[in-house]
Amino acid sequence: MLEVRDVEARYGDALALSRISLEVAEQQTLAVIGANGAGKSTLLRCLAGLMPVSAGQIRFRGESLDRVPAHRRVAAGISLVPEGRRLFASLTVTDNLLVGAHQRRPGPWDLDAVFEALPLVAQRRDRYAGALSGGEQQAVAIGRALMANPELLLLDEVSLGLAPVVIKQVYEVLPAIKAAGTTVLVVEQDVRQALAVADEVHCLLEGRTTLTGPAGSVSQEEVARAYFGV
Ligand code: ATP
Repeated sequence: MLEVRDVEARYGDALALSRISLEVAEQQTLAVIGANGAGKSTLLRCLAGLMPVSAGQIRFRGESLDRVPAHRRVAAGISLVPEGRRLFASLTVTDNLLVGAHQRRPGPWDLDAVFEALPLVAQRRDRYAGALSGGEQQAVAIGRALMANPELLLLDEVSLGLAPVVIKQVYEVLPAIKAAGTTVLVVEQDVRQALAVADEVHCLLEGRTTLTGPAGSVSQEEVARAYFGV
């Protein structure tokens, strides 16, 4: 469904991604792991169309995304849950979800389905988003992305700054997302969490691929070497 071929991305002269290649098959979950500064968020920005690639190709359902701007990628079926959630603080939870439905595609997700899959969101539906806890905001950000009925959902650092019990609650929505047939690319610093939810894993270190393979068959030692580069 998603093919990334020899992608490079730069901030000025600095190379943030160096010849990254990966594939995500339909209905699979790929976890991209790596330490601070590895290039994970940069990769998601390139996929969402928020940043140009300086070399290489990204194809979605066989079509190049080269000339497809960010807003048209949502319509094409790619939704990003950005790092830091970026909710509208002065809108209610329900209104934040409706913002996500702006470019709605046909599919299983609507307000009722989001409330059912994300109890954290349902309980707070009439609150202002700015008044929610970090975990609740993260759940709303995921719900907002689902409202567009994406075929490919990009999740950036869902667990960042959240307590372990809250991370568990937020990730409880993933089986429902997979059951809806959605393909998922999740970026995580929390390796254990990433391996628990993913079919495939891709590790980045300083903008380069250091490991790629089925999440169930990579050893802890391999992951540690790839993550820290030792
Ligand atoms: P983190 O977990 O800290 O977000 P990451 O793996 O997502 O890390 P990126 O944010 O993609 O990493 O950063 C990759 C590299 O690009 C780093 O060296 C970072 O310093 C650099 N970088 C990121 N954003 C910018 C920017 N806006 N301008 C210049 N350099 C940047």
